[in-house]
Amino acid sequence: MHIEAKELSKIYGTGESHVTALDHASLEIMPGDFVSIMGPSGSGKSTLLHLLSGLDHPTSGSLTYDGRDIYSFRDKELSAFRRRCIGFIFQQFNLLPVLTARENIIMPLLLDKKQPDNAYLDQLTKLLGIGDRLTHLPHELSGGQQQRVAIARALAAQPEIIFADEPTGNLDSKSGGEVIDMLESIQKELGKTLVIITHDNRIAGRADRQFMITDGILMEVTA
Ligand code: ADP
Ligand code: MG
Repeated sequence: MHIEAKELSKIYGTGESHVTALDHASLEIMPGDFVSIMGPSGSGKSTLLHLLSGLDHPTSGSLTYDGRDIYSFRDKELSAFRRRCIGFIFQQFNLLPVLTARENIIMPLLLDKKQPDNAYLDQLTKLLGIGDRLTHLPHELSGGQQQRVAIARALAAQPEIIFADEPTGNLDSKSGGEVIDMLESIQKELGKTLVIITHDNRIAGRADRQFMITDGILMEVTA
């Protein structure tokens, strides 16, 4: 899908205490793009990703997916769209502690009343190297394994677009590197669009297109 964000702004609070988290950010993402976004802490990276993925609404500006304005969707329609088309990966993994790895992975499908595609899930969990960990609870897994379970969950419904908000931020550099390698091979081999926020310029440098955000202002970095 072709994603087009125009002049997205997000202001938190009002009056004296308001914060402009994002200031007229525009960007276009083509199908299969690998995009990285870097910027200091508090610069508006998560705000931008939440707006791009429809997790949050902007104060002003527009966002279209193949020409459809997703902010005009009703809540139910937007959550259904998000579940089908978008996978989101968080820095803190956000796995449910009482569910096994496998149960966490298929949770979004169950919410959508869909049957898991077992052949696909087998392929995916093998690719992610967690095929033999599926009956474990999150606390029985390493950080890197937990993040790979979270990646499998984000991909369970076979979304076309993956957003990742500092996916390696809680990992040591070795498991972080493995997670990035896997995300990149999923993007390349399965033809997904990948938008990744990172503090690490080695990771950012692997993207086809790189953006920087400073005080809510987004700019593309040209080589
Ligand atoms: P980053 O992800 O780059 O660290 P964020 O997008 O989380 O930055 O935050 C950008 C700015 O918006 C920060 O100044 C932050 O304190 C502020 N902010 C984020 N979320 C909220 C909120 N829910 N209410 C008020 N201010 C917020
Ligand atoms: Mg953030």
